[in-house]
Amino acid sequence: MGMDLKIGDVTAAPGEIRYGRWDALEHPTGHVEFFPLIVAQGHREGPCFWLTAGVHGSEQAGPLVLYELLTPDLVARLRGTIVAIPALNPAGLRTRTRDPYHAKVDPNRLWPEAKADRSDHPDFDPPTSLELSYQRLYEKMTHSADYLIDYHNAWIGSLSFALRDRILYRGDDTEDQDRAQALSDKLDDMLKAYGHTVVTEYPAETYIKENLHRTTSGSVLQRARILAFTAELGTGMAPDPKIIKAACAGTRNVLRWAGMLDDQAEAIEDVRVIRTGYPVRRMRTPRVSEACVVRHLVQAGDRVGKGDVVAELRDVWGRATGNGVIRSGYEGIVLGRSHGVFFYPGQPILVMAVRDDDASIAPYPRHYRESMRPSP
Ligand SMILES: [Zn+2]
Repeated sequence: MGMDLKIGDVTAAPGEIRYGRWDALEHPTGHVEFFPLIVAQGHREGPCFWLTAGVHGSEQAGPLVLYELLTPDLVARLRGTIVAIPALNPAGLRTRTRDPYHAKVDPNRLWPEAKADRSDHPDFDPPTSLELSYQRLYEKMTHSADYLIDYHNAWIGSLSFALRDRILYRGDDTEDQDRAQALSDKLDDMLKAYGHTVVTEYPAETYIKENLHRTTSGSVLQRARILAFTAELGTGMAPDPKIIKAACAGTRNVLRWAGMLDDQAEAIEDVRVIRTGYPVRRMRTPRVSEACVVRHLVQAGDRVGKGDVVAELRDVWGRATGNGVIRSGYEGIVLGRSHGVFFYPGQPILVMAVRDDDASIAPYPRHYRESMRPSP
């Protein structure tokens, strides 16, 4: 990748950290929403690494990771270029809400996908201004990026972990399957370098149904086939300094793995790193079968066996209800508790990492494949 990178109003310069703006969209009040840019370039040639944060406005740890990471000392030692965007959803960050007030939809489900362009039928809503801005940014990103990490927060008190997407391929195309497998092996190496607990996303059917192929990292990985993952940084509205520190160390380790830093890898300290010995994927489980008040007995990072009691169930007066307890249906790790204690039937009380029975690559579901654009 060449070093003559220009993005928004910033031109990268060797040995410098430069700051600027990417004009994203215009509000009806005439105000222009911009994404803040930080472009840090080393003196030596090397890869281009994109680091993004703040796409969910209530997840505010990611920007702090970028500020702590991007120092003159780092740039002095760096090979290649880092393009960082600390605020992909400025409106949500202002109002401290997941979605922006001007587009009431999850912004991390708006990135380009492998499906053919949608119809211009007059009854279909056209893309929002935000979606159009992500489309433009995606073009810039995928022309320059060799790697991407997108920083998020999961739940209050949740584990600091890396979320890995299963790489999807066209089921009838063995060459595409081979390419997906090669990319998947490299992604495993990248995640190993990050040094945190690694959790694979839902199986392909659920992944597509929930539009997770249209997250920032999902889109870049699936459509552009550029190595990318999501870093989950625990509590969003009161960032944990230990997690920020561990995420910075993990990111520098990934930069070392990518050949962008020469020094020794750092230990990931003060956060729990769980190595199960088998691949795990995320699952919302267990779910309560009746309306109840839940007293959780486990927390993020705890290992749970199948059949273990994970919570007590009470009625609103505090009396035991149902069996009085709920047990885990799976062996695994607790990633976090669902927020609150008052639950309706069918709601999950935990998010867990459980044994992943599927491969790290998967064919696109048939119904999706039928609407995809032809292979390039
Ligand atoms: Zn998020």
